[in-house]
Amino acid sequence: MIDITLNNGLRMPALGFGVFQSAPDVTAQAVEAALNVGYRHIDTAAAYNNEREVGEGIRRSGVPRDEIVIETKVWVSDYGYDETLHAFEKATGKLGVDRLDVLILHQAAPDRFEKTIAAYKALETMHADGRIGAIGVSNFVPERIAMLLDATGVVPAINQVELHPYFTQRDVQRADAEQGIVTQAWSPIGGITFYPGYGDERRSVMDDPTLQELAGRHGKSAAQVMLRWHLQQGRSAIPKSTNPARIAENFDVFDFELSDEELARIDALDTGVRSGPDPEVPRPAMYDRSIPEA
Ligand code: NAP
Repeated sequence: MIDITLNNGLRMPALGFGVFQSAPDVTAQAVEAALNVGYRHIDTAAAYNNEREVGEGIRRSGVPRDEIVIETKVWVSDYGYDETLHAFEKATGKLGVDRLDVLILHQAAPDRFEKTIAAYKALETMHADGRIGAIGVSNFVPERIAMLLDATGVVPAINQVELHPYFTQRDVQRADAEQGIVTQAWSPIGGITFYPGYGDERRSVMDDPTLQELAGRHGKSAAQVMLRWHLQQGRSAIPKSTNPARIAENFDVFDFELSDEELARIDALDTGVRSGPDPEVPRPAMYDRSIPEA
């Protein structure tokens, strides 16, 4: 296992377990399987509609709560100071815990950024009183980070963004690093380049010939090579799977090392084109989806 130290001193496993699009009826067993093979960091979100099942999987695993980093996200419809304080109650109620290790804002929501700032101020309050171990953001471009820093006091510990070999976001990585913010890769093995629902123009990074070649050279899979690339470059990565074999495969990345030349070859695959939505284009219909009470 490789740990990452956040800018407030909190240590967490760099490799976490994602549950976006994990249906509620399979999430608990996926989380339990992940904890059984050694993951100690779970990434969920209010908007994934499976926090309750994440909590159930954690309890079923028998792994003590204080050995697990639970990261979740506030959805935009819960932005605003009081609303975000209440979002914490919803999240902890569903998860069945009394504190969160990491709580981040899911989107910058550029069309209502003053509410985003107010939401972040609520995170600062709960961080100060110990209810949250570390606070952060997701899908923030460098300009948004700068606007947030101007208006608030605590530098985010994490910025979770789309990041895989076809979209490496070097500008975001650089801006995050300058502020001591850990860049956390969503779709770290390129899920967004192949899972359904995002158009048919995409090429799956999983099939990339360079990654396939490196995988063959190391006796590993393309997914494992991508995860190793994230870890060796100091990022956090949170691959998702509901398949027990792939859950284990994605954690089996601590027994090989990519050379500098191999890392550079993966960096060179960047297309500069995102597969997911542009976070600076507001999506009011999405933002307004309400999050149920616990
Ligand atoms: P991902 O982890 O890169 O890829 C997941 C996809 O890959 C699933 O279709 C999964 O299917 C498949 N898969 C998993 N392991 C595999 C392997 N070893 N070989 C082949 N296929 C494999 O994509 P993601 O779910 O988009 O991103 C990961 C996590 O990031 C999410 O779960 C979520 O926690 C977070 N996320 C955050 C945001 C945000 O806006 N902040 C957006 C997207 C995601 P199976 O389940 O069938 O294995």
